[in-house]
Amino acid sequence: MKKIFIGTFFLLFLFACNSSKQLTPRASPDIVIQNVNVIDAKNGLQTGMSVLVKGNRIDQVFKANGTKFNSTNSTIINGEGKYLIPGLWDAHVHLSFIKELTPAMFKLFLAHGITSVRDTGGQLHLVLPEREKARKDPQNTPRVMIAGPLLDGVPTVYDGSTPNNPHLGIGAGTVEEAEKNADEMLAAKVDLLKAYEMLTPEAFKTILAKGKAAGIPITGHVPLSMDVIEASNAGMSSMEHMRNLEFACAADWEELLAKRKKMLFDGQAEIGSTLRRNIHTAQRSHAVANQDAAQRTKVLKVLADNETWQVPTMSIMMAGAERFNVRPDWLESFDLLPEPVKTNWKTNAVKFAETPVTKATTAYANWFFEMVGHLKTANVDIMAGTDCPIFFLTPGYSLHEELALLVKGGLTPLEAIEAATTKPAEYFKMDKELGLIQEGMLADLLLLEANPLTDIRNTLKIDAVVRDGKLHNRAALDALKADLMAGK
Ligand SMILES: [Zn+2]
Repeated sequence: MKKIFIGTFFLLFLFACNSSKQLTPRASPDIVIQNVNVIDAKNGLQTGMSVLVKGNRIDQVFKANGTKFNSTNSTIINGEGKYLIPGLWDAHVHLSFIKELTPAMFKLFLAHGITSVRDTGGQLHLVLPEREKARKDPQNTPRVMIAGPLLDGVPTVYDGSTPNNPHLGIGAGTVEEAEKNADEMLAAKVDLLKAYEMLTPEAFKTILAKGKAAGIPITGHVPLSMDVIEASNAGMSSMEHMRNLEFACAADWEELLAKRKKMLFDGQAEIGSTLRRNIHTAQRSHAVANQDAAQRTKVLKVLADNETWQVPTMSIMMAGAERFNVRPDWLESFDLLPEPVKTNWKTNAVKFAETPVTKATTAYANWFFEMVGHLKTANVDIMAGTDCPIFFLTPGYSLHEELALLVKGGLTPLEAIEAATTKPAEYFKMDKELGLIQEGMLADLLLLEANPLTDIRNTLKIDAVVRDGKLHNRAALDALKADLMAGK
């Protein structure tokens, strides 16, 4: 009898020790989010957790068991009924696309829980200072990774010839020029390279070799002179917009490739954007109507085996079919934009929405959604990116639309979150310290008022953002939005 009593007492003691140990932080934390539901791509949903942040790192994560932590030196947040996810990435943005918008971009991202961005095209003299600004003030800006300009061929698509084709690209007519352009980017220490559609296969492969040697990812649009399989086998890290994937999965893909090469040869004297549009117009609808399941399986297997990732950018690609830019919540998001962008978008987004959705647009949209499902089945990695601020895509706000569109395409909400958190971290070889809610990870976090796993749109119900260890609570985020609305 006595023995049993001692045994029970001992067990209780152990239990007590264990639970008091859970409540003893290693060091005095700066922020404590207690009794919160934690969600990340590796561990899924963990209920009733406490997350301690010290400096710019997650110091401890443990089961709170309903207990409360008290400290006068820490900011304590009651996480009951709330959901904590890693800070989000928009993996396809253009910080310098609209010059009046550039100064507001960082605030727009932060106000919407976007703690990292990948700039996929902008002149060096415009994007380098933005990256520098972000590095100097990490607590109030997103992490910025830049590609520099689009490394294109001749004629060049984004050559500055029209307002719709600003000077985002630099063209190389020869392999030597392509090499020189890539060297210029590497000298500026870009975080990735972006190869573009008018490159010759030889110039494209030269750029890939340069990026590989420097140990950075090479993304881009599959050049029109090439096939997806050839571009993937050459070592492309990722492809944007699933561009030209429809050609590769068509039953007559070889014939289409031969025709493209002829159009490129014949169109040397044309404006780059015109030539590109003519080629897309000649082949896209035909390719979408002639998809071949066996060919698609073959192409997607190559992408999966080579680890060539896809950044579908549903937001821009589906805007024409889905028309979300004129939903009341979208028009309201324009209030955050500086003039003249605000007035311009309010007028032109509505004007665009009045144009009929063509059959070709619908067919391409259907192909797009289906392809996202096929990518998932084939285990091709996906990252979430929007292409903001092109085509009325409000920076920050649009990433949440991207997540919803990816879910519509067949990803689970957790997979969509993965595409905007752990995947981009892995892409930049930062996954050891970013993208999960675990001890030692960088403290970029998003506290939500509702569960994003039951409705992905709940990622917009933001209670607080932690960026580089700094807490931006709801009041601070509202103040940020008020600044934006006042044009500050
Ligand atoms: Zn883009």
